[in-house]
Amino acid sequence: KPVVAIVGRPNVGKSTIFNRLIGERISIVEDKPGVTRDRIYAEAEWLTTTFRVIDTGGIEVGDEPLLTLVRQQAEIAIDEADVIIFIVNGQEGITGADEEIAKLLYKSNKPVVLAVNKMDNPEQREQIYEYYALGFGEPYPISGAHGLGLGDLLDEVVKHFPKFDHVQDEDDVISFSLIGRPNVGKSSLVNAILNEERVIVSDIEGTTRDAIDSTFERDGQEYTIIDTAGMRKRGKVYEKTEKYSVLRALKAIDRSNVVLVIIDAETGIREQDKRIAGYAHDAGRGIIIVVNKWDTIDSKEQSMEQFEEDIRMHFQFLDYAPIVFLSAKTKKRLHTLLPVIRLVSENHAKRVPTNVLNEVIMDAVAISPPSSIKGKRLKILYVTQVSVKPPSFVVFVNDPELMHFTYQRFLENKIRDTFGFVGTPINIFARRRQ
Ligand code: GDP
Repeated sequence: KPVVAIVGRPNVGKSTIFNRLIGERISIVEDKPGVTRDRIYAEAEWLTTTFRVIDTGGIEVGDEPLLTLVRQQAEIAIDEADVIIFIVNGQEGITGADEEIAKLLYKSNKPVVLAVNKMDNPEQREQIYEYYALGFGEPYPISGAHGLGLGDLLDEVVKHFPKFDHVQDEDDVISFSLIGRPNVGKSSLVNAILNEERVIVSDIEGTTRDAIDSTFERDGQEYTIIDTAGMRKRGKVYEKTEKYSVLRALKAIDRSNVVLVIIDAETGIREQDKRIAGYAHDAGRGIIIVVNKWDTIDSKEQSMEQFEEDIRMHFQFLDYAPIVFLSAKTKKRLHTLLPVIRLVSENHAKRVPTNVLNEVIMDAVAISPPSSIKGKRLKILYVTQVSVKPPSFVVFVNDPELMHFTYQRFLENKIRDTFGFVGTPINIFARRRQ
């Protein structure tokens, strides 16, 4: 998905515009269970296009002086965005900080659309011409407070989206990424894998996409490791901030079939691990929990079973994810990883036959019928798998309101028990029979 970044010095109204752009979608996103959402980053829609918006102002880099702050935010935008919305304050005119940002954006070669905010009344629009001086062509007058001018602004933004005309989803390659807190061993693990395998191609660091993906073949199967920045340690200050690493992780997750959530055996499970895992779960990707640095664990003192129990307790929403214990350093048990990735990827794309599916569900319903809610009872008429990646099922019923989540969970477990969807989330939707 195209990424739009909003930049501008403090108090020009970045967050207001951000909230306007994402509209009600944020509440939809937050409906999902178990996951803390990062407000700096959300999906938005204009006409028929969906895109991501980043509010770079939401990435706090600490107590930096104003100019350092805006410079860092502009750099994030330049690194991450396909199109940049540069916001200035129409009630204050062009300031030194605006010019500073303009210079950086100018050098970046990214498309920039200039928005002049706080143009609440038509009379103010006379002054719009002075903003041509910033050098980004036509300035768009907007009012974040009143929601004015956003349509024209977005029309212009959408025009600059890159054309994704090639299909990204190559069925024969398994793409996977590694996500996790800093220092859990992501880069070590990537290197360990790549040292064992014969790498086919490695993208050269490009000017437009600054990711390095590596493809290799094993047992007749091609795999691509999606580069997650933070593994390359470019050393910019903001790369250490949590929100920024989340942003990078989300981009990597987007491009993967399977996501490895890396946990550090030495430090144990942390709150941040759960948050990171939540993103992969929400994205509907295949998930494997990888416990790295297993070499540091004295097997007499802590067993895999104990560690697994711990993980299951902390990651209840990932009960479908298999767990792999290994050491990137000693390469112990490293060979167990690829077969699991392959299995999870297959499950993620698996389609089950409708007749078997219905037999299984109808049997389950006959043995454990739904209990009635307010005197009415759910009737299940028919089940069908509507899509893959992740596998999604529609259950046609007399009244979707009568589908209690525990019963839905029961059906999900039946499907899992029968068809073995290890490692992939599955979706079940109840629909009224037409
Ligand atoms: P990243 O930030 O997640 O990419 O983590 P790195 O790959 O840079 O690793 C962080 C530190 O953990 C480094 O000092 C590694 O040498 C160390 N490390 C990585 N994997 C292992 C492992 O399997 N065992 C041990 N003992 N140390 C490891």
